[in-house]
Amino acid sequence: MITTAFSYHKAGTVADALKLLAECGDDAKILAGGHSLIPAMKLRLNQPEHLIDISGISEIRYIRCEGNSLRVGAGATHADIANSSDVQSHMPMLAETAALIGDPAVRNKGTMGGVLAHADPAADYPAALLAADAEVVVQGPGGERIIALENFLLGLFDTDLAENEIIVEVRMNISPSNAKSTYQKFMQPASRYAIVGCAAMVTVDQGRISDAKVAFSSVAEKAFRAREVENALKGQEASEATIKAAVKNAVNGVEVLSDHFASSEYRGHLAKVYAERALKAVI
Ligand SMILES: Cc1cc2nc3c(=O)[nH]c(=O)nc-3n(C[C@H](O)[C@H](O)[C@H](O)COP(=O)(O)OP(=O)(O)OC[C@H]3O[C@@H](n4cnc5c(N)ncnc54)[C@H](O)[C@@H]3O)c2cc1C
Repeated sequence: MITTAFSYHKAGTVADALKLLAECGDDAKILAGGHSLIPAMKLRLNQPEHLIDISGISEIRYIRCEGNSLRVGAGATHADIANSSDVQSHMPMLAETAALIGDPAVRNKGTMGGVLAHADPAADYPAALLAADAEVVVQGPGGERIIALENFLLGLFDTDLAENEIIVEVRMNISPSNAKSTYQKFMQPASRYAIVGCAAMVTVDQGRISDAKVAFSSVAEKAFRAREVENALKGQEASEATIKAAVKNAVNGVEVLSDHFASSEYRGHLAKVYAERALKAVI
């Protein structure tokens, strides 16, 4: 199917894009890599009258460290993130996650900002970013807001982003030098979308787990931190028995998704299997 007709606007700067958003009103949509929006438009799930293309805005396409903080511009593509030496050194699970997204065409066009604004429960980044305690920086007519990702993601394709705001950056503290992290994903073989994705960042001190952050994508309507797993790990001996006991709590209290790829029972089982794999890889 082809999309309904729309007017195309190319923004040169964030200020330009915000001005266009204000002028075009509710019928406008931001276009970044187009790898979620254009398919949705072709299926007529989305019929914006105006598209505001931000893909050429260089001021939001960057990856840099500022002090202890790793900053990823909303316009950074998945390939930029996978290949960044700053991300590889300071948040390796994020580089690993980016490299597992889709195929080269998707990775060369799709962006960090697009993934977070779209809030697809199957998107990979949210698990890694939740495990990294990331924050989302948005800009709107009233200025800048910084929102913890956990509060930014509200539900299925739903975020705290207002219609007149744009995501400009994602930031997180660089991982401590003694922490190890990974993202492990069971993927749908054709699209490579996650059926279950698990991110883990763990610090082990003298044989004991001193810190653990575990988060899932594609298990529930929004990505989430598995705090019961984390609490079962912290302070315990870094052993296979500890891991096996902890992952039993992976989906406690979670309404697990069911779709034509995986029933909720199977997906819940996979969540435990992938949490175990992720934790074994880092401990
Ligand atoms: C074949 C295929 C396979 C894929 N596989 C995976 C996968 O394995 N894992 C995965 O995580 N994803 C996957 N994706 C999705 C891909 O990562 C998309 O790139 C991503 O979901 C959206 O990013 P985008 O830049 O293309 O956004 P767009 O499609 O341009 O926009 C998506 C939405 O975000 C809004 N938006 C975009 N940027 C901003 C911004 N800065 N501020 C505010 N709103 C904004 C748009 O208005 C739109 O509503 C796949 C896509 C395809 C087509």
